[in-house]
Amino acid sequence: MATIKAIESRSVHQIQSGQVIVDLCSVAKELVENGLDAGATSIEVRFKNHGLDSIEVQDNGSGISPADYDTIGLKHYTSKLSTYDDLSSLQTFGFRGEALSSLCALSKFHIVTARAADGAKGTRLDFEVSGKLRGTAVMAAKQGTTVVVDSLFYNLPVRRKELEKTIAREYKKVLHLLHAYACISVGVKFTVSNRIPKGKKTTAFATNSNPNTKENIANVYGAKTLLSLIPLDLKFDMDPSNRPGATQSARNWSTQDDTGAREVCIVGHISRPVVGEGRQTPDRQMFFVNSRPCALPQVSKAFSDVYKSYNITQSAFIFADLKLDTNAYDVNVSPDKRTIMLHDQTALLESLKNALVELFEGHDQSVPHAQLL
Ligand code: ADP
Ligand code: MG
Repeated sequence: MATIKAIESRSVHQIQSGQVIVDLCSVAKELVENGLDAGATSIEVRFKNHGLDSIEVQDNGSGISPADYDTIGLKHYTSKLSTYDDLSSLQTFGFRGEALSSLCALSKFHIVTARAADGAKGTRLDFEVSGKLRGTAVMAAKQGTTVVVDSLFYNLPVRRKELEKTIAREYKKVLHLLHAYACISVGVKFTVSNRIPKGKKTTAFATNSNPNTKENIANVYGAKTLLSLIPLDLKFDMDPSNRPGATQSARNWSTQDDTGAREVCIVGHISRPVVGEGRQTPDRQMFFVNSRPCALPQVSKAFSDVYKSYNITQSAFIFADLKLDTNAYDVNVSPDKRTIMLHDQTALLESLKNALVELFEGHDQSVPHAQLL
């Protein structure tokens, strides 16, 4: 008798879902990204009991069309990508159609959505664990979508216990992640709050719909933070002819000129390279690729290594957005898309370090900002 059999589809769903939604951060990230993809100019994230009881994300974006109610919770149903080839020209955060279906499998989940086109009413959507639409109900709602995730991991006892045990740390992590989305999202008002059981709602942080990232940073971290920052505006060419066997990957960069050199741009803000102007801990470092918040440990290390030679006692505040051609990186590496694979990373890091030294050398390192004012 054959011993190899297909896993029952309900179990496959649960196994895969557990890889997309791994923690509190993945929930917040997926829902905020959906709001931004829907063109929202206001995003409100409401935690209850730091997320243990509930995480709600409300946006004022496009809303969901009634024609999509039946499929929105199903795995691999997305409005953002239809073939693999579309990935290279992707303009949205999402593309796999996995987040909502995973949340149906791992939490008590519902959506309330409203569109001006459907009159003044909103609709509540409830789902089966499989992601199938269970029912709808008409209710009052403003234009946009609210996604409610109650009792995350209620049906995965090990994960639920772990979440309860580590909730203080997890909540800190999720705020850090939301800071990154709030700082990079120009023109979007972010409000993040938490309500403890039987307690009052407290605002964790809020931004206005600012016209630039500098004002977002001031809202999130306080206006004083800006005093110790200088603009990060690096442009450097990477000459592929210097690297053996690098010609093929150099072709992946559309910004290359006739000689094959390619231009890389990194924009943002960084602490002045002066003792006293950095931070006690590296807790304010945010990296983006084409405005997508992501984890770039090697890039982060390159920044820190250079900064250290100017300010040995402190860590830098770093807000760095790498502007890369979509063919020069791959976001489809990990289920949560936080890990990004950069083509030709070693060469990029070398050029980055040189450009940073140039930036810091060109800066007056002897005068602390207080004396410059
Ligand atoms: P993906 O973002 O990869 O497409 P999701 O599971 O996150 O997958 O969402 C599935 C689909 O549901 C999206 O493609 C989008 O059409 C719709 N959707 C999800 N969240 C929202 C929202 N906040 N506003 C409008 N539409 C949404
Ligand atoms: Mg999504």
